[in-house]
This record gives sequence, structure tokens and C-alpha cells, in this order.
Amino acid sequence: MFVSDLRHFLDLPMDAPAPAPRMAGHLTLIVRAATAGDAGLRWVGALTCRRRPGRRACPGHLALFRTDVPPSIEWRCTSCGDDGVISGWERSPFDLRPRSTDPGPTDVLRVVIPAEVAATLRTLMVVDSASERLVFRARVSEEGIVLAGDEDALDDLIGYVAAEANHEEDRRRQKRLDAAFGVLNDVVEQAQRS
Ligand SMILES: [Zn+2]
Repeated sequence: MFVSDLRHFLDLPMDAPAPAPRMAGHLTLIVRAATAGDAGLRWVGALTCRRRPGRRACPGHLALFRTDVPPSIEWRCTSCGDDGVISGWERSPFDLRPRSTDPGPTDVLRVVIPAEVAATLRTLMVVDSASERLVFRARVSEEGIVLAGDEDALDDLIGYVAAEANHEEDRRRQKRLDAAFGVLNDVVEQAQRS
């Protein structure tokens, strides 16, 4: 089991050996997902496993379990069993737990998106906390990756994807953002009609 304290990864020196920033990126994704979802409940998020057993990407997703008292996040790959526990994440920029002043969800929509769209959404740089939480709370189901959340937050998320696509100068990333925008727009419109 990989036992880590997030604080040790947040202030890495510029000359840290390459695996350290990679691991930091991995851990911050896990912290965002685990704090966007519910505490005290094991659930399988959309995050994929970073391991490559036999030089092929592990097909597993990360199951997450968070407790707030004491603050702890456990993660475990559903396929290869790679696992770890993270401490030191509370009140970091990656702690997405809602503040008590955030309004709760009103009309909840549930949409299914392809894994590559979920991955693109995780790379968004400008999102508000409600939309970021929505993205990182995505979970794996038999139908695919499920995004569930407040209708307004979903609409906002579509707006953020469009804005970022408009300003992206890297053509490949712009294409991915455009594709994510198209899919998200369609599934949300469908869900609103039904
Ligand atoms: Zn795995």
C-alpha cells in the first residue's frame, strides 16, 4: 500500500526527480475525486489506474473511500489492486468538499458520457467549484461514466468547456474540448427533455 502525505508533494523542488511530479499529479486527482464524492462510502470513480502491468494500461478504475474524522482517503484499483492511503489533503487547493454556504443541488440530472470526455473534463483549467465537484464526482456504472448533478451546474460546465475550447491554441486539445462540448450538450439536452 502506498502511504502518502499530500503536503510532501505540493511543494516539490523544481529539480525533483520526474516520478515525484507525476505522483503528485496522480494524488491530486485522487484527492479531488474523493473530496467531491460522499464520505464514509466506498464508490468507484472515473479515475483510471496509472499502472501498466505487462506494458498495457491497467483497465481498472479507482475505488475511493474517504473519512473526514480523522481526514483520510483510501484508494484501490478495481482491477490490479494497486492501493494507497493519503493524508494531509484537508484544506489544500484540491479539497473540493463543499463549504457549508454552498447551496445544495436542486434539480438533479444524470447523464452518461464516454470515458474520454470524462478525462477531458478533468483537464479544465477554469471552472467554479460546483462544476469541478461535478466532474470529479463522476462514477463508473455499467452504462459508462455517469455525471450526476444540479442542472445549473451542468449548464455552467458546458459553458466552461466552450469558453476553454474557444481560447485553446493547441489544436489537438481544442478538438478534444470541442468533442466534449458536443457530447455534453447533447446528453444534457436529452436529459432535460425526458
Ligand atoms: Zn490497476
